[in-house]
Amino acid sequence: MIKFWGVRGSTPISGPEFNTYGGHTSCVSVYTENNPHIIILDAGTGIVELGQYVLDQKIRTAHLLISHFHMDHIMGLPLFMPLHDPEFNLHIYSNHSNMSQFFAEVLFNPTLFPVKWQDVAATVTLHQVQAGDVMTLGSIEITTLHLNHPGGAMGYRLAHQHKTFCYLTDYEHDDGVFDQQLIHFMHNCDYAVCDATYHDHDYSHGKKGWGHSTNIRAAQLAKEAHINNLILFHHWYRYDDNVLNENVAQSQAIFKNTRAAHEGMMLAF
Ligand SMILES: [Zn+2]
Ligand SMILES: [Zn+2]
Repeated sequence: MIKFWGVRGSTPISGPEFNTYGGHTSCVSVYTENNPHIIILDAGTGIVELGQYVLDQKIRTAHLLISHFHMDHIMGLPLFMPLHDPEFNLHIYSNHSNMSQFFAEVLFNPTLFPVKWQDVAATVTLHQVQAGDVMTLGSIEITTLHLNHPGGAMGYRLAHQHKTFCYLTDYEHDDGVFDQQLIHFMHNCDYAVCDATYHDHDYSHGKKGWGHSTNIRAAQLAKEAHINNLILFHHWYRYDDNVLNENVAQSQAIFKNTRAAHEGMMLAF
């Protein structure tokens, strides 16, 4: 089962106008019956609520795949409470060349957070991966891809029992044709979570070069890659439920099987 815990980009937001889609930043979990471990994609603020689920379910091991280290993808990690449980094992994967230094000196810097990185109770194992690497976690095969984003980002493709799921957030297309490596990577997949941060108007008014896509480009990409289901993701934090409903309708006119991710949404996997 795939579950969305945070679907926003840039910053969390709250208010009644955001109730349908939710206000937490990027975090998705993948849990399959024959794998005792949970896989987590990104550690935005959505991971805080996921932490409570992990504790309630007594899950002892998680594999956290980080797309990149922009704030909205890591800011929830310090308050992911299993990290402070001595019986918990956390494996963290990313292409960062020195994660332990980053966590010790930046995210868990004593000026910012009371618990030092070296004092977290859980057993943490860091794994550096490179775009193009293939990993196997239980019965899930994971492939990786470099994404065009300021500082770079990593896309992940999870394959399990003939089903495939792509997590592709924080990338910008060039104006012309799509990146053929990206098309190939997501080709025929069952679900693709795609960066759809802006709608066209906002993108073309000051957001070019910020590293993100639009709901229209996401739908065109889905069509070209012949995927089965498109999930719009990383919604601009200013977009309320009405704006996102309009974005979905626009995308569906191009690619019918389009939905926008919302907090609590689940997909069979
Ligand atoms: Zn982001
Ligand atoms: Zn980013």
